[in-house]
Parts: sequence; structure tokens; C-alpha cells
Amino acid sequence: MPAIQTETQYVSSIGMEVHAELLTESKMFCGCRNAFGGEPNTRCCPVCLGLPGSLPVANRLAVELVIRAALALHCSISPIAEFDRKNYFYPDLPKGYQISQYDQPIGSGGWLDIETEAGPRRVHIRRVHLEEDTGKLMHLPTGDSAVDYNRSGVPLMEIVTEFPPDMGSADEARAYLVKLRAILTCIGVSDGKMEQGSLRCEPNISVRPTGASAFGTKTEIKNLNSFRAVHRGVQHELTRQVALLRRGERVAQETRGWNEARGETVLQRVKEVEQEYRYFPEPDLLPLHIDDAWVASIRAGLPELPDAARLRLVDQYGVSAAEADLLTQTAAWTAYFERAAGLCGNARATANWMMGELARLLNAANLEIDQCKAGPEALAELLAMVESGKISGKMAKGVWEAAFETGEAPAAIAARQGEQISDAGALGAVLNSVIAAQPDVWQALCAGDEKKLTFMVGQIMKQTRGKANPGEVNRLLRERMAGGAQ
Ligand SMILES: [Zn+2]
Repeated sequence: MPAIQTETQYVSSIGMEVHAELLTESKMFCGCRNAFGGEPNTRCCPVCLGLPGSLPVANRLAVELVIRAALALHCSISPIAEFDRKNYFYPDLPKGYQISQYDQPIGSGGWLDIETEAGPRRVHIRRVHLEEDTGKLMHLPTGDSAVDYNRSGVPLMEIVTEFPPDMGSADEARAYLVKLRAILTCIGVSDGKMEQGSLRCEPNISVRPTGASAFGTKTEIKNLNSFRAVHRGVQHELTRQVALLRRGERVAQETRGWNEARGETVLQRVKEVEQEYRYFPEPDLLPLHIDDAWVASIRAGLPELPDAARLRLVDQYGVSAAEADLLTQTAAWTAYFERAAGLCGNARATANWMMGELARLLNAANLEIDQCKAGPEALAELLAMVESGKISGKMAKGVWEAAFETGEAPAAIAARQGEQISDAGALGAVLNSVIAAQPDVWQALCAGDEKKLTFMVGQIMKQTRGKANPGEVNRLLRERMAGGAQ
């Protein structure tokens, strides 16, 4: 009987396919509007509905955006790129095939760098290609299903990591997606809105015993739409697979879904193999000819990328590497930070506030920074009031919450709520009444019982409903104490 190997350790391998809807005005092969939402089936035509006899025309801007993304990801650009038909049946795909790219994608052989616990890691990218999105199937509470074809034919970019995979943990999978989203939003190719499905992620996961040369069977998790779901989904799948192998069972090659509420992956279907799609060149579209001059002009138009922005923020503003990571998560974050820091002249306080209070409120409201009613001007105004002592740090939080909620200027909110009391005369009067009410405490304090100081400050704060300037209160108390008990 073989010994029970309770000590077997496993190595994890994680690859990733990311789909991003492109920021074009019109769809991939027709003139229908490319926009999120809208009344179902109002943005369709014979081409994107796949009616017989309709002919596709490629969207030049979509091709350009994919070239832009491929360049930002350090890919080489193919001088000739072809469209292919990927054949499968699904109700959200009325043509019976999706126009995609198979053996001649626009970009290949790229990479991006992520930070890991063990230091920087390069994640290699196999390909960046262009295809069209499908419609959306909706399962109604009545038990019926409906299809909305507004999304059908929206330009979709797919980014696939290289095999063998460079990533080996849930943290790394999330870091990759965070970085990729930062790059795609920075170059204006995608809005990065994962909750709306315009950026979707499908990690594939396998484990194998340490030292084994053959990769384990991989499973794929479909359509994850938040960083958190990616992290939890990958972690759950790694744990599930290791548990299967430890029990002597096998991992089946399959596609799994993520159940957010239950925190687990569930079987969706046994995975198709590539041959079943019967790829063949799309006969209705000519190959794309991408000349060097076009590529060069797109390269010249690339903005500062997140890695460069991150280094610059550390260098120029003295923020920490961790702060710079957060501040370059999208171009909108970087722009917000630079505007606010420039206006108030205090980059550290700006970074601090954005990582703390701003991020907290955005998360709670499930908003992106560019949807925030309190813009960088509002934050600069708030921080200037804190710095000049007009309001305390504590009051600032309340003022900020109101500004975030309503978009009203922080100065106006603070004026209405009453500014911080720093005036020695006003504070002195409050102090007198507190001493009069608590003569024993005051005597003890003056006799050297320092613990009573906190109590006295607390009483003054209570009387002024938190508006007393704590530094000024302390100074005043010490001054009185030095003068002796009255
Ligand atoms: Zn159309």
C-alpha cells in the first residue's frame, strides 16, 4: 500500500482572458450606436442582428484602439490581421457565429509588470485581438427568457496571457487585472466599468504537485466583474482543486461560474475544445493591412502610462509607492490628485484624504471617481480649511460627507455648520464655565493629576459641540494651569 502523502504541496498556475468593450461611437461592423443601457433592442440593424444578406464593414477606430492597447502592452503589431468566424449557437448570437480573430491577431507577444510579495513580476501577454460582443440574455422573474441585442456587435477586445502562466496566486491575478484596467482606462480604450460588464475577466486555474513538470487540468471562471470577485473566485478554485487532488480525485476541464453570495464556483458546462468552433476566415471582410506609419502615429499619441505616472508621482509629490499605486489606478484618479494637490499645495494631505475618506465614500456608494460630485476643487478647498485651522480634522469628515453627497462647496457647508472655534476669548469663557461646574476636577488637575486633562478637554468639546480647536484648548488649559488654580 502506498504511503498516504499528506505532505504533498501544490503549485498554482493562473492565466487570464480579459474582454474590454471599446470606447467607439458606433458598433464593430455597422453604424448602430455603441452605448451602455438603453431600451432593449433599440440599437440594432440587420447587420448586428445577423439577418441574411447583411454585410459587415470594419470600424476603423476599433482597430486603432486595439493597436493602441497592444502598443501600451508592449506587443508587436501584425502587418496583416484577419477576421475569422467562430461558430457556435447561443440565443444571444443570432448569426450562429461570432466574428473574431484566430491565427492572426492584431497584437502578440507583449507583457505588463505587476508588484507581488516577492517583488516585481512580468506577466507575458500572448495576444490582443478584436472581435464583437454578443447580445444579452435575460432570465425574467416570470420564468421567461428575453434577449436584448443592443450589445450585439459592440467592439470587443480580448487580451490573453501567455502559456505557461506567469501568475500563481489570487493576489497576483488581482494585481494583473488592476494594472491592466489602469492601462486601458489611461489610454482611453475602455471605460473600465467592471460592474457594467464593459470590462470582464475570465481566469483559468490549474494546480500541480510541486516538482511535477506537466500542468494540471485547468478550469475557467466566466465573467467575473469585480476585483474582489476575481480574488475570491481564484482563491476558491485553487482551494477546491487542491482538495480534489488530495482526496485522490481528478480535476475536470470545465467552465465554472462564480456565485458571489455563496462565495464559491459552480459548474456551468464542460469546456468546448477549440476545434469545435470550426474557425475559418471571415469571407465578408478583407484582411486588415496595418502599415508602419499608422502604428508609429498611434504610438506617438500614447499618453503617459500608469507605470511612468507612478514613478513621477513618487518623485514629484513625495507620495509613497502604495499611495502612487492607488492614485494611478485610473487616469481619472491621477488627474483628480494632481488638480487637488496643485490647488491646495499639500500633496501628502491630498493623497491621504483620497486614499482614506474619498475611497471609502466611493466604495460605499459604488461610484467611480469621475462620477463623484465633490471634485478636486472641493477637496482642495476642504484641505485648505483644515490647514488654516478653520475646521478641525473631525469636522472636515462631516463637511466632506455632505459635499460628497450634494456637490455643495465645502466652505459653504462649513459656514452653515459653524466654523471651528479658535478664539482665545470665546474658548476662555467656555473654560470658565467648565471649571465652575467641576471645581474638584480642576483642583486635581492643577495639583498634578494629568489624567484629568483629557476629561477637561472633553467637557469643552461637549459644550462647543466639537467645534473647539483642540490645539488651542490644550494651550489654554496649560496656560491656566501654569497660572495656578483659581
Ligand atoms: Zn447594427
